[in-house]
Amino acid sequence: MSDMKQENINSTRFDIPPELQNQVAITTLDKIYNWGRRSSVWPLMFGLACCAMEMICTAASRYDLARFGMEIMRPSPRQADLMIVSGTVTKKMIPQIVRLYNQMPEPKYVLAMGACASGGGPFKEGYNVVSGVDRYIPVDVYVPGCPPTPQALLHGLITLQRKIDAQSIKDARWYRKEEIAEIPIPIYGPDIIDPRQIEIIKQQTRRQPGANGSRRSRSAGIVGR
Ligand code: SF4
Repeated sequence: MSDMKQENINSTRFDIPPELQNQVAITTLDKIYNWGRRSSVWPLMFGLACCAMEMICTAASRYDLARFGMEIMRPSPRQADLMIVSGTVTKKMIPQIVRLYNQMPEPKYVLAMGACASGGGPFKEGYNVVSGVDRYIPVDVYVPGCPPTPQALLHGLITLQRKIDAQSIKDARWYRKEEIAEIPIPIYGPDIIDPRQIEIIKQQTRRQPGANGSRRSRSAGIVGR
């Protein structure tokens, strides 16, 4: 804020006595609230693959996450407010990731660390890999790289702090009256199924040649033989 603006606020709107002008600071509720939140973001302690090594380095003494108030990695999702998805997200793992995300209390954030978590990385379209964790849970910050360096992760964390700074109590989703719905847990079987896509899957299956009636009649023929 420029000196002139500060002077206007002090002298006209709030009428602070001159003897107090160097001892009173005026700010907004949002700023204080967000300052407290951005300075105590506690990441969930889990890693998925090679990117996790870089995340562990970032938490060690050389890079010192404590500068940002983020050094307490929580082993329980109930006490964490940041999920760093560090590594390859396999189809076998995604139900667990969504379950952990659901168990984190609001406000909560997700950082996709590395090419794998952001979009599948070198394993994109592989038979066992999800093409980005954002297909299942909302991602706030993406950190590119394979693997990203600790400096890159720090930059992502600072970016998250900037995002928190820009939020307002007035429209924060965790203060709205309506309940925040949980994300349905993906079903892991021969392939991964997103329960939110069930209707689309059913429609596409019906549209496939040989589906429904014709398949039934064929199998009936086999049974009859
Ligand atoms: S992005 Fe690269 S370093 Fe990170 S988990 Fe994938 S393959 Fe490993």
